[in-house]
Amino acid sequence: MLLRLGALLAGVVLVGVSIGVGVLTGNERRADLDRRLRGENHQQAEAVRVSFARAREIMLLTAQNPVFAAFYREPGDLQTKVEGDSRTLDNAVRAMGFLATLFPESVGEISFVDSSGSENARLVRGQRSQPDQLSQTEADESYFDPTFALGPGEVYQSAVQPSAAGNSFVVSNSTVVPGLPPGSQAVIRFELSTAMFGRVRPVLDLRYLIIDANTLSIVSDTRPTPANTAAAQRDSAIATAVTAAAEPDGILTVAGQRLSYTLVPSSPANANDWYVVSAAPAPDTGLLADFDFRTLILLVAAGALLGFAVASFRAYQRRLEFAAVTDPLTQLPNRNMLADRVEQALLARRRTNDDVAVLVLDLDRFKEVNDTLGHHCGDELLQQVGPRIRAELRESDTVARLGGDEFAVLLPSVNGISAAMEVAGRILEGVRQPFTVGALALEVEASVGIALAPYHGESFEQLLQHADAAMYVAKESSLGATLYDKAFDTHNPRRLSMLAELRRAIDKDELELYYQPKAMLPTEELRGVEALLRWNHPARGTVMPNDFIPFAEHTALIQPLTDWVIEHAAADVRRWLDGGREIAVSVNVSARSLLDNRLCETIREVLEVHGIPSRLLVVEITETAIMTDPNKARDVLVALNAMGIEVSIDDFGTGYSSLAYLKTLPVHELKIDRSFVMNMCAHPDDAVIVRSVIDLGRNLGLRVIAEGVEDADTCRHLVEAGCQMAQGYLWSKPIPAAALDEWFANRAVGVSS
Ligand code: C2E
Ligand code: CA
Ligand code: CA
Repeated sequence: MLLRLGALLAGVVLVGVSIGVGVLTGNERRADLDRRLRGENHQQAEAVRVSFARAREIMLLTAQNPVFAAFYREPGDLQTKVEGDSRTLDNAVRAMGFLATLFPESVGEISFVDSSGSENARLVRGQRSQPDQLSQTEADESYFDPTFALGPGEVYQSAVQPSAAGNSFVVSNSTVVPGLPPGSQAVIRFELSTAMFGRVRPVLDLRYLIIDANTLSIVSDTRPTPANTAAAQRDSAIATAVTAAAEPDGILTVAGQRLSYTLVPSSPANANDWYVVSAAPAPDTGLLADFDFRTLILLVAAGALLGFAVASFRAYQRRLEFAAVTDPLTQLPNRNMLADRVEQALLARRRTNDDVAVLVLDLDRFKEVNDTLGHHCGDELLQQVGPRIRAELRESDTVARLGGDEFAVLLPSVNGISAAMEVAGRILEGVRQPFTVGALALEVEASVGIALAPYHGESFEQLLQHADAAMYVAKESSLGATLYDKAFDTHNPRRLSMLAELRRAIDKDELELYYQPKAMLPTEELRGVEALLRWNHPARGTVMPNDFIPFAEHTALIQPLTDWVIEHAAADVRRWLDGGREIAVSVNVSARSLLDNRLCETIREVLEVHGIPSRLLVVEITETAIMTDPNKARDVLVALNAMGIEVSIDDFGTGYSSLAYLKTLPVHELKIDRSFVMNMCAHPDDAVIVRSVIDLGRNLGLRVIAEGVEDADTCRHLVEAGCQMAQGYLWSKPIPAAALDEWFANRAVGVSS
């Protein structure tokens, strides 16, 4: 987590740094450019000043050349000397030519002008003009006023003006020629192209402009742009902006250009109000523009870090999600995941029709482990329980931890109640094996509650709640595995404690078999008995089977109970055989016992141990028991049949089995439920049912027996209907074996021939 946070933070910081560095670099680059532009421009402005000064100096030196004064001193009319052949004028023109060589290609006209404004001589690009081409008077009389105002030794530099040729701008430099005879005044004037100022200093990547503040014209440009273009418009925008600037010196961005401008102000010697401008394309201010190579590397690093952080956070999130469905201690699915899987199994059930079982397992006395050995050992134990349970399950089953020492198991596709009970039994067996915690071998008991869809609920909540209730019952009665029953909902503590007592009742020998004779019809000869269980509770007296068998059937307790009944029934049959009576005994076998793999083996063993022929044992099973798991039931019935043991379908008529189906099973007897029999005289409907069951049974070749026959009337009706056997209070209530002996002795019937 720290690493992730660190990575995320580092990533964020690095991105920040990258952007910062980017911005800084951007800023730095802008600042760099500005610095450079400013520095460059100052130098350019200085160069302009210097070149003006240089022009002035050269101008002065030229003017001080005595040849000009010599021309005036030379006798003769000025006009004549100019138009005629004057040696001194020739010398002056040579001096003027020398001036031109100092500013090659930059010098326009050079003229030697009289104070009247008429030209004495003129050089145009090195060529001396003919006397007739000379202007007699300057158009503007006041043209040289500033020059004369300055007097000799000073040069007046005019404002920019278009050259005579019209293709460039020029600055007129003029100075009064010193040393002339009194009354004479003359001026040397030369035009210097403004282009010259632009070449003062080579500018490589910068553009260098001189803007005339008065006309806003760009008089010098190292990168001249064609007129009437967008660029020209841009340039005029630059000129406007620069001249409008309040400060004489500054930096501006105009029309995508970064500009450093410097005012070169006019002075008495120089009429120019210049702006010297150095320009470069303005750097982009967009973020992307700021990223150079260094920034890119930083960004890539930041991206990698962030990517790592994000991926790691994803993993963390997945772990969180996993944690939301996983128990952190045991790494088993938690209740949420279990809920999800149960709901899925319930959905799948709609197609497959398989049973879905939910088991709740709770360790017994886990608190003691925690209290005596410490939580560390408790945790270790809990961690080992999951794998133990897992070992007994299929891949598709789910083990979950509900919390504390409570676990749950989902069997998404289970073959009926018996299979679920079997799995529960295996799990308990697995958990019972000693655990090694630290150096200790711990023996742990557990209780399991079982609920199945569709029998005990159709939703996760219901199934879990019912499995939990069953587990509670199992725990209270120390029964191990317990199947949910509606009766558990009432949480009858008396029943719960009774179950616990029942478990001990087997060992304490509190159980007893009662026997109820069966009568052959119409002779009423008593042939065989049904074994019916009684529990002689030390405090409560005789407890009837309906008060404890259904509970036992939901727990593992039913197995030892059934075994006990078979064993004791066989022992009594043996005793009767030994007493000379061959009495067949019917034992009731519950659904769970029927589907118990061990049933046939138990019966075989018992018959063998007591030396009893198999025909003296009849197994009574209810049709609902068969329908719980028809395939498994069929296997068991076939096996019993192979052993020569007859099977009776008990409580017939109360279930929903089809006779057509029963016909395919190896059964021998149909036992009409007493609810129909007891009422058949009062209720014609019941009589119809009894009659039809008798007919059907006979047609199928089955023996039909009616139970619950309390009166002779009913007996007569049954005889009329063709019923072959009957059982009921008419002959006897269920009685203890000892009483039965007496009863048989008195009746002197049932004695084997
Ligand atoms: P069941 O197999 O239908 O047994 C017949 C029940 O009807 C017995 O009740 C018997 O006492 C009662 N009965 C017999 N004749 C009459 C009569 O004329 N009138 C009336 N009103 N009742 C009559 P019991 O002994 O209380 O047994 C109740 C149920 O307990 C049995 O019904 C059977 O399903 C179950 N049961 C009894 N013993 C065992 C056993 O050893 N193992 C198993 N799995 N279930 C047993
Ligand atoms: Ca019975
Ligand atoms: Ca019955």
